[in-house]
Amino acid sequence: MGQIVIQQSAPGFELRHFEDAGRNDLALYSNPVEARAISTYSDAGEFRPLKTAPTLRHGWRLQLPDLESLRTALDFFYPAMLGSLLSHERNELLPVDLRETLGRQSGMYAVTKKITDPQADALIETVCNSAHGCLKTILWQIAPDRPVTSLPAEKFNPAVSQIPAALPVLPMLCAEACNLLVAAAREVVKKVPVAE
Ligand code: SF4
Repeated sequence: MGQIVIQQSAPGFELRHFEDAGRNDLALYSNPVEARAISTYSDAGEFRPLKTAPTLRHGWRLQLPDLESLRTALDFFYPAMLGSLLSHERNELLPVDLRETLGRQSGMYAVTKKITDPQADALIETVCNSAHGCLKTILWQIAPDRPVTSLPAEKFNPAVSQIPAALPVLPMLCAEACNLLVAAAREVVKKVPVAE
């Protein structure tokens, strides 16, 4: 899930950063709550406001005794992602297109309704791309008849991993544009440069 490899390790599970697969010098943790501290800052010590950004720090492994502690840890690493996936598998996760999300904005964000489709496409490419933006798989479109055209098809396919690793994937699903994207849309409309 995301940048985390989950392996069975009797009697439970072991989690680590997928790029730490061959390392034997990792700091060992055993409490699922430790996932909160592990995921708060990047390798560079920068706060991670978006937990699904591809900036999870390296250098740790988390040994967990059972499925319940695994679920707790994953909820700290990637809040609500396991629940969203289970909802999706029950066909209960309903995607909301960007136009509908922006249409509901009020106050200082009401201006986001004015973003054009090409502007939205360019913004989504910057904010949501898996290489340096966000590892979620997008389920929504710009509008019912307007898909996002600035990202590869893999970004919209839950069966495809968003990291460069050939592993079975528990996808993290984006059913509706997040506050980060809406705030960035406001900056675009107000002609303020969008930070990358
Ligand atoms: S809109 Fe979805 S895919 Fe894009 S940054 Fe936000 S959570 Fe990630």
